[in-house]
Amino acid sequence: MKDKKERPGERRTWSLLPKALRPRIEVQTQEERPVVAIIGAGPAGMEAAIQIARQSCQVLLFEANADLALNLQNKYKLFPDMSDAQTLAQGMMLALEHPLITVYRQTPIKHVVQVENFHWQVFTEDNRVFKATAVLLCTGYEVFDARRKEELGYGIYNGVITSLELENMFKQEHISTLTGDSPKRVVFLQCVGSRDEKVGNRYCSKVCCVTAVKQAIELKRMHPETEVYVFYMDLRMWGKGFEEMYRVAQEQYNIRFVRGRISEAAGTFDGGVQIKAEDTLIGKPLKMRTDLLVLMLGMEASCGTKQLAKSCGIVGDYGFAGSLDPHLNDNHTHRKGLFLAGTCKRPMSLTDVIADARSAAMEIINYLSKQ
Ligand code: SF4
Repeated sequence: MKDKKERPGERRTWSLLPKALRPRIEVQTQEERPVVAIIGAGPAGMEAAIQIARQSCQVLLFEANADLALNLQNKYKLFPDMSDAQTLAQGMMLALEHPLITVYRQTPIKHVVQVENFHWQVFTEDNRVFKATAVLLCTGYEVFDARRKEELGYGIYNGVITSLELENMFKQEHISTLTGDSPKRVVFLQCVGSRDEKVGNRYCSKVCCVTAVKQAIELKRMHPETEVYVFYMDLRMWGKGFEEMYRVAQEQYNIRFVRGRISEAAGTFDGGVQIKAEDTLIGKPLKMRTDLLVLMLGMEASCGTKQLAKSCGIVGDYGFAGSLDPHLNDNHTHRKGLFLAGTCKRPMSLTDVIADARSAAMEIINYLSKQ
């Protein structure tokens, strides 16, 4: 039912809030509202901020960079529906323009401290202090630094590029080699920096298989004449619509999938890349020349995730933040009032990040209702 006393921004909130909570929050003045500090304005932080503000709580959203959702903004199309990444990012940023959300850009957070049982202080690197009733870490991931796999030649040979650099070429709608020509052959290599004992990352990054298939399809759409190969260990097409994309890649676009590892890459005199690999299905070594070798980079815990997880005593596997348990309390930590959402916990897809942020928002609202 429409409430004529609603304040701006609250209109959509009451119908979503559990009945028992409505009167309690409704009578609060702006000053009395619970304050939630969210650290990190990627998709998880932005989505959680929007959901929490819609429940009439005040949100302080901190972002270390000048731009919000940088990883999302660096993308061109999203799998599996090939929708436009910029449209989604812009839509989320527009929704942040809510009277209860304050965004602090270029504000890295040094640490967060629990001062009383139910209150937190957030310390910025420029020595400001903010009070909050709950804190949500959404400090996200960083991509693996391809230079750590020296044998693959990234940073040495111009024909070796990363999946991020290829995504940027898609955004420019111009795929070319260093000489400016359209590539005649492109090879993708999976699992760079993931499932790799040598670099200390045994885990799977979950989204690079489907990203390679998506990029291979985009490439064939722009350059149907280009030969495209994907070298993989296993193809993990686990999400809705992923397996269908894999079939389309083979049947409609003639993209060739080779089960095998590339052991070495070297530059050729004409700016290409010579790769040495083994086809593990037929058990034979092979050599191939390609114009571009695209390294599908895995996800690692970001510096912010590592730093805050350590200072809060919630370090999980591989430097990611650890939740209380993976089943019923995956947004909780063992610290009261400290919550987690998105890829600060582990690699996940954008779809899962948004669902997880909504789940964290609901957990925080439940938590605030009990204080
Ligand atoms: S998603 Fe695929 S490419 Fe990425 S780490 Fe897992 S198996 Fe390797």
